Amino acid sequence: MRRAQWRSNLSALEVLEMCTPQEEDFVPDFATRIAARLSITPHQATAMAMDAYQLSLCPNLAKVVRTGYYPITMVRKILSLIATVTEPHLTDVESDICAMLRPSHPNQQLPTTKGMTYRIKKIIEKHQPIARPLDEGEERKTNGSVRHAGPEISFDQSNDARTRVLIDLPKLDGIELEKLVRAAAAKYECTQAEAFLRIVREHTDVRITLNLYKNTADPTEDLFAEGSWLPKAVGEEWMPRITHLAAPGFAEAQGYAPTEAIKAALAGRDGGCRAPHCSVPPHRCDVDHVRRYDHEDPAAGGPTNTDNLHLLCRYHHKQKTAGQWDVELRPDGSEAWTSVGDGHQVVTVPHGPLGRETFQFRHLRRAKAVKLHNLLTIMPPEGEPTLDLHLAVATVQTEELDLDFEETLPF
Ligand SMILES: [Zn+2]
Repeated sequence: MRRAQWRSNLSALEVLEMCTPQEEDFVPDFATRIAARLSITPHQATAMAMDAYQLSLCPNLAKVVRTGYYPITMVRKILSLIATVTEPHLTDVESDICAMLRPSHPNQQLPTTKGMTYRIKKIIEKHQPIARPLDEGEERKTNGSVRHAGPEISFDQSNDARTRVLIDLPKLDGIELEKLVRAAAAKYECTQAEAFLRIVREHTDVRITLNLYKNTADPTEDLFAEGSWLPKAVGEEWMPRITHLAAPGFAEAQGYAPTEAIKAALAGRDGGCRAPHCSVPPHRCDVDHVRRYDHEDPAAGGPTNTDNLHLLCRYHHKQKTAGQWDVELRPDGSEAWTSVGDGHQVVTVPHGPLGRETFQFRHLRRAKAVKLHNLLTIMPPEGEPTLDLHLAVATVQTEELDLDFEETLPF
């Protein structure tokens, strides 16, 4: 399986590199020729040739992907993201991407497309801001700054009996609405759609907590919320709505139920479901005791603290409870998932900004949290009694472990 996957990655890369055009080749001629050979459309062939051309400009990246460990879809996603970067910045961008692709743990799973895309955009922003690819809902103004589209709503009345409502919101507003609707549905024991109508029609006293994470050691870094890094402008809009500040870290509770402080620390560390290849965001995850909690004799089972708790989506929570996986949560926040069936192991690392924190950074972060608290004017938002916001202040440790590719990849 490992060898087959490795060979398949290499073959796909070989095909891509065979589509590398010369600078003077004409696009339609070249694309038609490739399309005929590979039985794809000329449009697809043009995209392939463009990616191959980009790879030919990045010799170091080519060397890394020629190890055969990276699927072609991932390689092509990287190439399309950096297509707008020009020399002399391309070399720096390329070298940062090569460092990012290097795993930090043996058997570590490959980065998710979402996480990788975010990190590559940050790398481009660092070296050549104007070349950063835009997110959905963003548009670049003539002075180079980026504008974010506001909320949009449309009503489709084409059906006689029903009305379809499409609401298109900036990320954080969408998460706020989803959390409110979920909380109201749980409180009034109704469907989420009924809960939404209830929120619109009458004043409901549903309260939710939205945790935002800000790295005080690096003010240029974006805000992190519910599994996503927010665009800078969106983060700035939300800062005035913050009502509480905290520096989350180790937290524990007596009994089975986790406290809000524990949930905030977990969402900031895990950034979503911790199972391999799963990207369900924190607000849709359950808090799970890695070592089972013993209701009869709590001292004998796993404790309710951040060293023994993690986030799992409902699907993976059920799989773990059913005994399909052995999970070990390590002190550095990485998790080893071992299949009870065939014994294969995958290591996942936390996606959140609180992941991989050391004591040195924790100490630094606490001092900075106090300073930030003094700097910010904190006003409870007027007319927003149902929303309770916390700012969690975090420092990210960026130290890379120097491990060999050969030893560390899962196949
Ligand atoms: Zn999951």
